[in-house]
Amino acid sequence: MRNYLKHYINGEWVESTGSETMEVLNPATEEVLGHISLGTKEDLDRAVKAARNAFPAFAQTSKEYRIELLEKIADEYEKRKNELVEIITEELGAPLKLSENYHYILGYAHFKKAAEILRNYSFIEKRGNSTIIKEPIGVCGLITPWNFPTNQPSTKIASALAAGCTMVMKPAEITPYAAMMLADIFEAAGLPNGVFNLVNGAGDVIGNAISSHPNIDFVSFTGSNVAGRKVMENASKDIKKVALELGGKSPLIVLKDADVAKAAKTAVTNISTNSGQACIAATRVIVPREMKAEFEGKVKELVAELAVGDPKQDNEVGPVVSKKQWDRIQGYIQIGVDEGATILTGGKGKPEGLNQGYFVKPTVFTDVRNDMTIAQDEIFGPVTTIITYDSLDEAIEIANDTVYGLAGYVVGEDPEALKMAALGIRAGIVIVNDAPFDFSAPFGGFKQSGIGREWGDFGIEEYLEPKAVMGIQS
Ligand code: NAD
Repeated sequence: MRNYLKHYINGEWVESTGSETMEVLNPATEEVLGHISLGTKEDLDRAVKAARNAFPAFAQTSKEYRIELLEKIADEYEKRKNELVEIITEELGAPLKLSENYHYILGYAHFKKAAEILRNYSFIEKRGNSTIIKEPIGVCGLITPWNFPTNQPSTKIASALAAGCTMVMKPAEITPYAAMMLADIFEAAGLPNGVFNLVNGAGDVIGNAISSHPNIDFVSFTGSNVAGRKVMENASKDIKKVALELGGKSPLIVLKDADVAKAAKTAVTNISTNSGQACIAATRVIVPREMKAEFEGKVKELVAELAVGDPKQDNEVGPVVSKKQWDRIQGYIQIGVDEGATILTGGKGKPEGLNQGYFVKPTVFTDVRNDMTIAQDEIFGPVTTIITYDSLDEAIEIANDTVYGLAGYVVGEDPEALKMAALGIRAGIVIVNDAPFDFSAPFGGFKQSGIGREWGDFGIEEYLEPKAVMGIQS
């Protein structure tokens, strides 16, 4: 039983000032994994004070020092590989292979990439008669969601450290343990006291307190649009800068010359990976009308081959994270049926033989119109929709007919058509023919998918304020 009831403040694990605790469940078994404390406003104030006190010295550290620190963190992170993989699987329900080859790796990559970028990064630039100095923005509030328990904390923390900022993080309360392990990793790497602080707690208490705290200079939030709006509203009181990485309803355009089997694989991988709980998951598959029947056949075949089950066994799809998410997904499947879409495979209820745990049948809807709720709302589960098109212009129009703009995908052969689709999609990230992630590229969304960017130098610059000094020559 992991009864981790302390917060990490000023370089040590300290008791909560409140007495409220929360159960953390294993979504695959519905059993209690442990407990955390739900922090109070006083806990947060203490953490902000520690970060504020640590800021002047940390902001003055050299680039070389921070490169070394990020490298040491990556080394310590590597040493904890087995523990991290195990806890990600237990708290999120991600299959072991996914925890190891995806979640664990993503967390590691951001620390390494930040160090690499810093090597060639200059915090001072000459322009006209000005010297532009990029200064750390100050104390940062980091609020992270449950779907990527190491990736999302790591990308924010690595950028903040690279920039010379200090921080207070509130991880998602339902997957707190991998994030808590990061605090031990930082300590082992020799991070000075107060630079990183962690307070566990509820979104409407600690999350709210972070976004409205007068001594926090910048909030980086990843999660739902509902909470993102609240963060922005609270932050507006002090004109606090915010970066928001919110939802998506990303399109996958299948070109007319695409290999049907490969395209179907891309579509299915998008809902099987992390049980479809990814902000960049493609969940509107836009296929040529003449390809529909063949595409549906291939998708059905691939979904039937998916091994859904115990994430500690050799399965590809685990449960979704919570009862709340399970209920929400079931609700959307019902809405899809009510609105007249056809279930190609899957549907409501649990997969056969999986009565314990929040398992969802991978579900594909076809005969979907883009104005249906299931094509407009982010469902955040293993559910996708097939929509047909006649011309590429129409496909691009459908792709962009959404309030979101986080990611887009294109598969096919003709270079001109690939380019036209990729450039036509209004989104922050476009992935052509399953290209691998590039951590040096910016990650973030257009439209209601958010504000600001993570990853690479774009990510680091969110944590910097450019200061223009005119009239000084050196
Ligand atoms: P959420 O937005 O409520 O939670 C994400 C984080 O924000 C958590 O740490 C939570 O404690 C915190 N939070 C909640 N309310 C807050 C507030 N008022 N102020 C500040 N922080 C707050 O997400 P959820 O309820 O766990 O999931 C609901 C939906 O959000 C999902 O179905 C999905 O659509 C979306 N979601 C998106 C992402 C993403 O990566 N874009 C991640 C998780 C969830």
